[in-house]
Amino acid sequence: MIVKTTEPQLSAAADSPGPAGPPVAPGLSPVWIAQRLIRFNTVNPPGDEAECVQWIRGVLDRAGIETRILASDPRRPNLVARLPGRGLEPPLLLHAHVDVVPVEGQEWTRPPFGGEIVDGELWGRGAVDMKGHLAMMMAALLRMRARGDVPPGDVILAVVPDEETGSTVGARFLVERHPELFAGVRYAIGEDGGAELGLGPYARLHPIVVAEKRTCWVRVTLRGPGGHASRVASGSGVVNKLRRLLESLADGGLGVQHTPVVDRMLKELANALPPGVGERVDAFRVAPEDPSVLDGLDESTVRYLRSIVQHTVSVTVLQGGTGTNVHPTEITVELDGRVLPGGFTTEEFLGLLRERVGPEPELELFVEGELSPPPRLDAFYDRLVKVLKAKDPDGVPLPIVTTASTDARLFSSRLGIQCFGWMPLLHAPETVYRDRLHCPDERIAVSALEFGTDCFHMLLSGAG
Ligand SMILES: [Zn+2]
Repeated sequence: MIVKTTEPQLSAAADSPGPAGPPVAPGLSPVWIAQRLIRFNTVNPPGDEAECVQWIRGVLDRAGIETRILASDPRRPNLVARLPGRGLEPPLLLHAHVDVVPVEGQEWTRPPFGGEIVDGELWGRGAVDMKGHLAMMMAALLRMRARGDVPPGDVILAVVPDEETGSTVGARFLVERHPELFAGVRYAIGEDGGAELGLGPYARLHPIVVAEKRTCWVRVTLRGPGGHASRVASGSGVVNKLRRLLESLADGGLGVQHTPVVDRMLKELANALPPGVGERVDAFRVAPEDPSVLDGLDESTVRYLRSIVQHTVSVTVLQGGTGTNVHPTEITVELDGRVLPGGFTTEEFLGLLRERVGPEPELELFVEGELSPPPRLDAFYDRLVKVLKAKDPDGVPLPIVTTASTDARLFSSRLGIQCFGWMPLLHAPETVYRDRLHCPDERIAVSALEFGTDCFHMLLSGAG
């Protein structure tokens, strides 16, 4: 096992902020940038992203890339950088968050903020989500500057705090208070994508997120008669109501819905897989009501596929009861609801939920995610595909729907920007990328960071 840390290659001065100067050295690699980013502890809460963002500003300033800092909380600034283009295309937005999720309670083999390189992998919190991704974007911009490449349209890089806990001082602040910074932007690239979907042994997939599910969190309140628990509970007792509620939601979803974007995804996926597996995915596409056709595939892949053909509802937080010897009179249950893309309204979702749980339980929608316009897979999507095909001719780009929600929801719902989750990665087939998100021992292959930077550089230079 080799443990080493790379040193700044040509620009040691990049560690301290300074005035704008000549273009930065071309050797400023994504790995070196990602290492530095990981070493800033930006665990959210509390975030404290300022030092990290100021470091990024120093690097970009020295390369002669114009930056602005915008903040509602000075400890948690946003940075917006702009690389001017030739005016042939609308501006393109790249957005990335620098906050990361906590590491407490997790057993890490390596220090989570060490940024160590071990056996060709860069370790640390944020390596995947999403400091590694941001490093690809920054390295591509720096390469453009260093080579004198001028993009066809302006490239805007928005570096934001607070994605992991609601985006209030991050992307939401930017789109609500400074929408003028994004005037004319039609397309954006942000996080997610790049996951191998657990199908690595069958095909080298390059998932491109074209739509996200929408968060709709619901609190269910159940009430019933109390009484001494030394006697059996009443049939109308609140625990019996809880049992019936859990049974009604046991399969995790609210029934299959056909959406064009999922249909296209499953069609392309079926075509990319070897015949036996591909046929089963196609059978699932035609009749998702029967997921047993997927038996034998990786369990998390099956759960993912089942989650993109229906609105899902997961029971997460249960609260109630005051004493072991007292039948409770009230129990609340929180549901993590995720609504499919394609314009489904909150009312439709709540209507289906009501059908499931019956007329009695009180339902309160306490978090409602933004409703984004339906996805468009137009010429820009084709460019993303073309770049991936050029850089990995044997790989298969694939449009996917993610079950998560990212800052893309704010840029798309508030500003009408078509957002893509595009993290170009080239993995060994056995890499379990998705299982590293928010988990201990998060890490990314150095070669994957370099591949991603090459892809971003090709896209930004207009060669795609
Ligand atoms: Zn993220």
